[in-house]
Amino acid sequence: MANPVVAIVGRPNVGKSTLFNRIVGERLAIVEDVPGVTRDRLYSKAEWLGKSFYLIDTGGIAFDDHDALIDSIRHQAELAIDEADVIIFVVDGTVGITEEDQSVARMLFRSKKPIVLAVNKIDNTKRLHDIYEFYSLGVGEPYPVSGAHATGIGDLLDEVIKHFPEHEEDAYDEDVIRVSLIGRPNVGKSSLVNALLGEERVIVSDIAGTTRDAIDTPFMFEGQEYVLIDTAGMRKRGKVYESTEKYSVMRALRAMERSDVVLVVLNGEEGIIEQDKKVAGYAHEAGRGVIIVVNKWDAVEKDERTMNRFVAEIRQEFKYLSYAPILFVSAKTKQRVHTILPKVAQVAEQHAFRIATPVLNDLIQEATTVTPPPSDKGRRLRINYATQVSVKPPTLVLFVNDKELMHFSYQRYLENKIREAFPLEGTPIRILVRNKS
Ligand code: GDP
Ligand code: GDP
Repeated sequence: MANPVVAIVGRPNVGKSTLFNRIVGERLAIVEDVPGVTRDRLYSKAEWLGKSFYLIDTGGIAFDDHDALIDSIRHQAELAIDEADVIIFVVDGTVGITEEDQSVARMLFRSKKPIVLAVNKIDNTKRLHDIYEFYSLGVGEPYPVSGAHATGIGDLLDEVIKHFPEHEEDAYDEDVIRVSLIGRPNVGKSSLVNALLGEERVIVSDIAGTTRDAIDTPFMFEGQEYVLIDTAGMRKRGKVYESTEKYSVMRALRAMERSDVVLVVLNGEEGIIEQDKKVAGYAHEAGRGVIIVVNKWDAVEKDERTMNRFVAEIRQEFKYLSYAPILFVSAKTKQRVHTILPKVAQVAEQHAFRIATPVLNDLIQEATTVTPPPSDKGRRLRINYATQVSVKPPTLVLFVNDKELMHFSYQRYLENKIREAFPLEGTPIRILVRNKS
């Protein structure tokens, strides 16, 4: 199930980032920390009552330096309307309704998106009567909150999750491979989509169950059904959004959530920059199959060592993606574009790979014999039992005597052993460690 996206909207200083931090705060402490993944606060995963979602603070996105404040707030709201499932509209209870609030409220109202109105800075019960005037914004019931004191957040989130879509937006069959292309602007994503679909053997077909037909492109290749996810998003050239990182991130997140395999597209001509690292980090964290596609290879001046050097640089910069195969292509000359889909099919298969429990346990047994698990103050980690609990990506649970004794490096060692024994190219592996009850 794809994670819904919740966007926080409101004018500056109402407390958006304070609320953002409150909502993701506890969750942040428990997310797996991936070394090397560039962290930023564009978005974060959050959870409430067992439902996880992405939270995006649209504040501070400057679309255009010349934008008047009100335009910039309106653009942020537009972005949220386009991309979010639920919008938290934040206003300041100590200030009352402003002209900007009214302008945003009108846009949100017209959008028909679910809106939850948070009246912030209601720091004590004496302030509660301040919330009533906000009914007149016409976007529903005002929820009193205090980001500073962390009050009212629970009731607010109860309301937010009520609006999550109940069903998967798309209902493609299990065996349809869903692919998305992500990457910073101008790396050649839309050119690659055209090159892929232009391949003569690719037949664009109707696949039953498509509800977002205008957004995705289904096709057949060598007897396999594929769907390119959110190709419309790539073609849609919003003048204001195009260059903003948050906009591309938000789009990419939603596309990735709905994919089995993600193509992380790099520009071979320009090399790797910081924004590529962020994009790649998101792909890894999303738990999808990943293929790194270096595009514009035609435009690179090469000798026989160029490709190896580029591979080394990718491995160095994206350490956490060591499992991802790398392809060098040109959307322009079509060079090696034909290698992409076979690789996608392979990675999709690995992403759904199941390791039989006895085989897995034998493997763990052998690995722990060769290199014994770590110990602390005379107590040694013991792995009693291992089993794969899910696919896409393969997720294993190790039942141990005391999970505090597990080290990141030992876990990495076990992962490497598993990868030596099984193909698993292109897919992350999740390993969860639990105390044997
Ligand atoms: P943003 O610009 O909307 O992201 O707002 P911030 O989260 O940066 O907050 C703006 C100011 O309001 C900061 O000085 C915060 O400390 C303050 N603030 C945020 N939440 C509360 C609150 O619940 N009560 C009070 N009294 N101040 C708050
Ligand atoms: P997107 O923003 O990632 O979708 O990138 P586009 O597909 O719009 O491509 C951006 C620019 O790069 C366009 O001018 C393309 O013609 C050019 N481009 C795309 N692929 C290639 C390629 O393989 N080689 C060269 N030389 N240029 C390319």
